[in-house]
Amino acid sequence: MGKADTLREYKKKRDFSKTAEPQGGGKRSSRKPIFVIQQHHARRMHFDFRLELDGVMASWAVPKGLSTDPRDKRLAVRTEDHPLAYWNFEGRIPEGEYGAGEVIVWDTGEYENMSRKNGKQISLKKALAQGHAEIELFGRKLKGGYALIHTRMRGDEKNWLVVKKNDDHADARRNPVNSEPQSVLSGMTIQEMAKAAE
Ligand code: MN
Repeated sequence: MGKADTLREYKKKRDFSKTAEPQGGGKRSSRKPIFVIQQHHARRMHFDFRLELDGVMASWAVPKGLSTDPRDKRLAVRTEDHPLAYWNFEGRIPEGEYGAGEVIVWDTGEYENMSRKNGKQISLKKALAQGHAEIELFGRKLKGGYALIHTRMRGDEKNWLVVKKNDDHADARRNPVNSEPQSVLSGMTIQEMAKAAE
């Protein structure tokens, strides 16, 4: 739905010769977009990294999960966009369904686009199209800058790398995928979710 459609009802209800309310224009909500990292025990254990972008969640499957060590270059395979409402999904995808297995919300929070080109800020959409995006995460477990770099490794268009930026939140010893396995929503580990869903 375009902006004009979105505002149609708002405008229809008001007489702008009488009200001082704006007729339109202005900036969209200042609320920052959100990210989520879901641990997903499908045929293979992996982590799904999703960024709110243009009304959907742009998604990557990260087999080893995101690292806090800037030396780790983690493979991130681009997958299909997911609905925004997916961000707090936890539970079990039944046998026979696509992605069958347990899902927990391993981390979530707001993020900020930090992508630049020639010293100028560019949109995340543009940065992703150009194959190099930078974001700052404000999660419960993961904080600070991360780069998403399109590699076309092994000739595969879907292959990206996600790498921690060397900032105050970089920590080579933390290894949160192993040391902080609980869901930030339910407190359950992926194994506990599997037992709960049995
Ligand atoms: Mn998945």
